[in-house]
Amino acid sequence: MLTALHFFTHIGLSWIVGAAGHRTMRDRWLIVGAGVLPDLDGIGILWGQHAYDAVHRAAGHGLLFIVLWLLLVVALADRRWPTAALAAVSFHLHLLLDVVGTGGLPIRYFWPFSDASWTYAGHWTLASWQNAVVMGGTLLGVLWIGWRTARLNAPAAARGDA
Ligand SMILES: [Zn+2]
Repeated sequence: MLTALHFFTHIGLSWIVGAAGHRTMRDRWLIVGAGVLPDLDGIGILWGQHAYDAVHRAAGHGLLFIVLWLLLVVALADRRWPTAALAAVSFHLHLLLDVVGTGGLPIRYFWPFSDASWTYAGHWTLASWQNAVVMGGTLLGVLWIGWRTARLNAPAAARGDA
């Protein structure tokens, strides 16, 4: 349950980053992808704990992944460089939330070139007030963006601007 909430926080934070400025839906999804897709490297769990430990927080949580993703962003985005910059922010927010918010496996940022890893001894546990604050703040941010978007798209009369 808490792991799922943590994952939804990744989605929400990425969505908030993607909503900065006036982005097309394509650019938003490219930014959200940078903040959500890293956890696909946990798919090794389907083959067992050893496969999971070998690549989780390495293959999708490192420089190689984000460089490849940014190449895709630059090729596909409507506004290339601002979208690439926000995708990089979204990705690194994911890493920060993993390291500080959960502990667990270390981040191997330079995998497969190096096994150097990042951990933070003072990390929070999933069931901590700090994570509750981050999750709650993220939820409020997503709701605010939804409200703002609905208001911007509403006819002028419905907004009271007429
Ligand atoms: Zn992660």
